[in-house]
Parts: sequence; C-alpha cells; structure tokens
Amino acid sequence: MAQKTALIVYAHQSPASFNAAARDVALQELKLQGYEVVVSDLYAMNFKASATRDDIIGDVRNSEHFRYGEETLHAGMEGRLSEDIVAEQRKVTEAELIIFQFPLYWFSFPAIMKGWIDRVLSQGFAFSLEKMYDNGIFKDKKAMMSFTTGATPTMFQPDGINGDINVTLWPLQNGILHFCGFQVLAPQIFWSPAHCPPAGRAAMLEGWRTRLKGLLAENPLTFAPCELFDLSFQGGFSLRPEVKEELATQPLGISTGHHLGKPLPPDNQTRAPATEEDEQGCGKKARASIRTV
Ligand SMILES: Cc1cc2nc3c(=O)[nH]c(=O)nc-3n(C[C@H](O)[C@H](O)[C@H](O)COP(=O)(O)OP(=O)(O)OC[C@H]3O[C@@H](n4cnc5c(N)ncnc54)[C@H](O)[C@@H]3O)c2cc1C
Repeated sequence: MAQKTALIVYAHQSPASFNAAARDVALQELKLQGYEVVVSDLYAMNFKASATRDDIIGDVRNSEHFRYGEETLHAGMEGRLSEDIVAEQRKVTEAELIIFQFPLYWFSFPAIMKGWIDRVLSQGFAFSLEKMYDNGIFKDKKAMMSFTTGATPTMFQPDGINGDINVTLWPLQNGILHFCGFQVLAPQIFWSPAHCPPAGRAAMLEGWRTRLKGLLAENPLTFAPCELFDLSFQGGFSLRPEVKEELATQPLGISTGHHLGKPLPPDNQTRAPATEEDEQGCGKKARASIRTV
C-alpha cells in the first residue's frame, strides 16, 4: 500500500524561529503516525513568488496581452509549466494533508507563500469553474493553516483593535483552500510567541503535538455548500430564492462571509463543529429544506 503523504508548505527565514519549531513538531508527529512528510521550505528554495510569463515553457498564446490565468491553464494541459511549479504540483497531488506553516504578515500569508499559492494552485490543476468549493478538485484532501502572530488573542476579538480573526481568516480559508475543494481543518494559531514566556511557548508546542495526534480525525470547518446556490451565470451564482426565504427566519448568517446582514455564526473560521448538532449557521436547515423541494 502506498505510504500516506503530508506536505508542509513552510515560510520562515530562520531555522531558530518559533515557526521552525512548529514545523518540526508536525514533521516528527506525522512521521510517528506513518506519514511520509515532505517540506517545501520556500525561503531555502528561493521559491519564485511572482506569477510571470517565465512560468510557461515555450510560446504563449498572446504575447501582446499576456493573461497569466489563461496561459497557465493551456500550458498546464500541454505540460509546459515551469519545472518548479510542476514539482510543487506533484507534491500536492501526492499529499492527503497540507499544512501551511507561516508567520502572519499583514493579516495574511508572507509574499513568498502567496506566490506559491498563485503559481502552484493554477487553473486546471487546482480548480475550474465546474470544480470549485465542495465540488472542488481537492475534495478528498485536507488542508490547514498553522501560523504565528505578533498580536494577542484579545486584539483579534470582535471588539479588539484588529477585529474578528474569523473575518481575517475568511478569504484565506474560504477563498483559497475551500475554493480548491480542500476539507479545511481549523487553524492552529500560535498567539504572539515573541511576547510569551518560555514556558508558554513550550506549552503551545506541546498543545500542537497533542492536537496532531488526532488531527486527521477532526471534523473540518463548515462552509456554505454549493447546493445552496444557483450555479449558473443566469442565477448569478447566488443563493437560491427558496434558500433565502428559509434563511430569513434564522437568527445567524450562514458563514463568516455569507452573513446575510445577520450576526456571524460564532468561531465559524476557527472551530469545527464537534457534531452535526453543534453546527450553527451554515444553512443546515436550508440544506434540509432544499432537499425536499
Ligand atoms: C512584514 C510583517 C508583517 C506582519 N504583520 C502582522 C500582522 O498582520 N498581524 C500580526 O499579528 N503580526 C504581524 N507580524 C508579526 C509576525 O506575525 C510575528 O513576528 C511572527 O508571527 C512571530 O513568529 P516567529 O516564528 O517569527 O517568532 P520568533 O521571533 O522566531 O520566535 C518567538 C520566540 O520563540 C522562541 N523559540 C524558537 N524556537 C523555540 C522552541 N523550540 N521552543 C520555545 N521557544 C522557541 C524564539 O527564540 C523567540 O524567543 C508581522 C511581521 C512582519 C515582519
């Protein structure tokens, strides 16, 4: 039987960093569980972050008006994407779990990791208009973000100076991971390790180690499923009218992004429901109702 593979996409400049320690804990723990663990150490690889014409081998279709998405779609189908992209895509194909390990930069990924996402998760390889969200290409794989912050947790509360961390996570987890179909596991957030006493840092790493032991059995986060939407240009890819009607009577929005002007379902982007009964928002009732129409 083929060995289970996990990929850690890692972005930190220093092997002495807390991010390196978090990466190593995942590496050790997943290996103990029988995984082959592949690490893409993006700074060490000097990974090219910019999406450019150089990513295509040979001629492009329209050199006067170069369109990266279209050109890479065709180049991908013709086996003409650059070697570094193909090597990373192979790692993604083989992995059943991908962990993105990084320090939060400007409420997001460091540029080098965003470059990996821009270039590796190319159209045709990672998504298409027909295959996205819960119908997405990687729906049998799991992915998660594991990151450190400078900020404390209270700064990322709904009443904190940075605003709700669930809102910060929405574009990254929904717009990238869930869009490509991944089952998104709750993020691992290491709050402010640089301002934490050594015992607190050691406890964070131990907490991560403990979580990793049951990681693959965790429920993923919940997102609004495709079946709630009219997936046609005519229907605008918007909520179906009968679903809207049903949701109008519910106290919470469906998800952090699909709030419908209502309160957000709590911790929608930071905690998975332990059971189906715990699922709040996310159109559970609406899903049941559209199955009956
Ligand atoms: C461009 C930029 C943008 C940023 N934007 C944001 C933002 O939007 N929001 C935000 O919150 N923050 C932001 N930050 C801050 C950034 O997220 C933090 O500096 C980073 O997350 C800290 O993680 P680190 O791994 O670099 O910590 P490090 O400074 O490397 O480590 C913290 C401490 O852990 C110690 N350590 C290392 N290994 C171990 C170990 N094995 N066991 C115990 N301790 C260990 C280190 O010695 C150090 O004392 C930004 C920073 C930059 C440079």
